[in-house]
Amino acid sequence: MSKHYIIPIFVPHFGCQNDCVFCNQKKITGLSTNVKVEDVESIILTYLNYFAEGGFIEVAFYGGSFTAIDINVQKELLKVPFEYKKKGIINEIRLSTRPDAINKEILNNLRLCGVDTIELGVQSLDEDVLKASDRGHLASIVYQACELIKQFGFNLGLQMMLGLPEDSIEKSLKTCLEFIKLKPYCVRIYPTLVIRDTHLERLYINKSYIPLDLDSAVEQSSLLLMLFYLNYINVIRIGLQPTEDIQLGREVVAGPFHPAFRQLVESNIYRMLFEYIFLERDISTENVDLVIEANKSKISFIAGQQSSNINYWKDKYRFSKIKIYEKDIISNSINITIGKYYDRINMYELMDKYIKNHPLIEKIQGFQQ
Ligand code: SF4
Repeated sequence: MSKHYIIPIFVPHFGCQNDCVFCNQKKITGLSTNVKVEDVESIILTYLNYFAEGGFIEVAFYGGSFTAIDINVQKELLKVPFEYKKKGIINEIRLSTRPDAINKEILNNLRLCGVDTIELGVQSLDEDVLKASDRGHLASIVYQACELIKQFGFNLGLQMMLGLPEDSIEKSLKTCLEFIKLKPYCVRIYPTLVIRDTHLERLYINKSYIPLDLDSAVEQSSLLLMLFYLNYINVIRIGLQPTEDIQLGREVVAGPFHPAFRQLVESNIYRMLFEYIFLERDISTENVDLVIEANKSKISFIAGQQSSNINYWKDKYRFSKIKIYEKDIISNSINITIGKYYDRINMYELMDKYIKNHPLIEKIQGFQQ
């Protein structure tokens, strides 16, 4: 598979008339000025210098609300990447925007300008959360925008946030289940961080808003990632990308920030699923060895960061030793030996069973039927 390269072009707060409680695009993107049309080509050329030949190259306009920018400026910004696309130098163009900045005229223009993927910053499909976050539109607008984007033949990307004001794990799971029905091409999950100079920072300071702690954000993200995975939806990012400024104590005032958030989530999924095996199969774990054999690509996730899963299982289930070995098996398969108990586990099937029996998901699906 060829390597996928992204050329990011940030348009912080460009075009956006809104002021969502959590947003300070200047801090998130690290840029305080908007990109100029003449900058686009130099950004593309700079990145192209670093890429190896034969990769899949995508130009991505991030930040702000691209389609809320004046349509003539959108055309100008897209002109250079489209020329490069026509020459076969880049492969695709993607951009992100607000759901209420989508209509037929806008989509028609994006199609003429060679855009492939449109990502919508949805954040939540719960009306109270949208309102408390000052998103400025109703959930119904999201469904209309998704429908139109698909009708026009674009790839649809959806972004959701966790832990917004008035949010809950149940509401996040409902948003996730609605996303699955919308059949997006890709998804991003962002636990809410309190960024300096935002309305959310003021709410946090006067104690009207409490962010998720890191463990809860990891727990919620784990359930969402499993749900998307089971429905063959590609989650392309979990957690804000750390930069020089996106760090706790810099522009991040509070919230579940971790520089390797996705890795925490992937490791936590193994923690949850292994625990499910021990309990569901009623295996005696005390004073016996746990031996795991897995594909090389999964070893560090199974062990957890700084062996956190190994230490957790050892303390909680009183194994005498835990050993993890590399084995030449498919990445979805794991051999597990606990004392005299042995099984070859298909992780997809195990995940499916875990999710179907999860009390919260059963409850939410029960409500929705
Ligand atoms: S719509 Fe996007 S860019 Fe505009 S304020 Fe909200 S999060 Fe920021």
